[in-house]
Amino acid sequence: MQLADRAYRMGSETAFEVLARARKLEAEGKTIIHLQIGEPDFTTPKNICDAAIRSIQNGDTHYTPSAGTMELRKVIAEYVTKTRGVEFSPENVVVTPGGKPIMFFTILALIGKGDEVIYPNPGFPIYESMINVAGGTPVPLPLKEEDEFKVDIKQFERLITNRTKLVIINSPGNPTGKTIPQKDIEAMAEVLKDKDTYILSDEIYSRIIYDDAKPFSITKINGFKDRTIILDGFSKTYAMTGWRAGYGVMNTELVPIIAKLQTNSNSCTNTFVQKGCIEALTGPQDEVDKMVAEFKKRRDVMIEGLNTIKGFKCLKPDGAFYVFPSIKETGYKSKELADKLLYEAGVATLAGTSFGKFGEGYLRVSYANSVENIKKAIQKIKETI
Ligand code: PLP
Repeated sequence: MQLADRAYRMGSETAFEVLARARKLEAEGKTIIHLQIGEPDFTTPKNICDAAIRSIQNGDTHYTPSAGTMELRKVIAEYVTKTRGVEFSPENVVVTPGGKPIMFFTILALIGKGDEVIYPNPGFPIYESMINVAGGTPVPLPLKEEDEFKVDIKQFERLITNRTKLVIINSPGNPTGKTIPQKDIEAMAEVLKDKDTYILSDEIYSRIIYDDAKPFSITKINGFKDRTIILDGFSKTYAMTGWRAGYGVMNTELVPIIAKLQTNSNSCTNTFVQKGCIEALTGPQDEVDKMVAEFKKRRDVMIEGLNTIKGFKCLKPDGAFYVFPSIKETGYKSKELADKLLYEAGVATLAGTSFGKFGEGYLRVSYANSVENIKKAIQKIKETI
């Protein structure tokens, strides 16, 4: 087949490919501990499921407007206003099937040939993929272990040119689990202040935070609200990955364009899913608190365990549900070790390079699994190493 050039430029997410390989091993009778997972292993809270079931029984089975129902957009605007401390209205919101389409649509809407996009590396692989698909130039911003995976502001400044059209930030970040401190976001904003640059602020993990981490949205800085597209959603916070529900918050000039991309692709987000989302944001939040407390417990078990493995060194993340240990001292390359652990130890992890070239020398290990399985996996890794 001869495909269009853009199809050859498209990347992917290794998590799906590793899951397929792990499932194949399981079908052959092997036991695999899944630490490659990018989703909470909890079930969606019952009140949210009930709201969606009621909705389908009440006949909410038709299209909604492309940008989402006004009822949900209103609830999202109120939630984002409260959590970010910045005033937004329903007209700033577009509801999408998952947070990912906001990435896809924003990059398609803003980026063309010759436009440069600065994005975190290691970072969520779809950023780089979509920049390439859109014909833009990906400009990786290296996040280094020696800086605790924080942004090196001097380096960031050096990467900016008069072709920089978009900067992507992700806090708390996948795969490092690190939150960008307020002072660093302010320093980035200072660099961008007089530039013609938009910001895609991926805040999908903003509710999964530990210790005294305080996610800070760049929209709070004077002049940045209208230049920023916030990406957030229900997948991680409410254990709703399979529902496909997310949203973008942006200026009202961009909203009709992003909604039009939705009209051109999905038409709208599933109608009864939107009803579940209203319940998620307006109903009790104690299930979220319980999930975060459990993740924190697992994080501590994971870090302590990994740091006892020869050649592993693991920093303490303050958000999301991933750790990103250095495996440089083991002598293995990332992909080589991830494969060895899958086939020999029966532990599925992701190579750091799945998150970009600056991920070499690391593994991404998810703790969306029980304490018991985490302990078992650590033992198996130790024996294999
Ligand atoms: N942004 C980041 C950093 C993620 O890790 C993910 C999912 O893994 C997403 C966005 C997309 O989430 P969703 O499942 O809502 O599309």
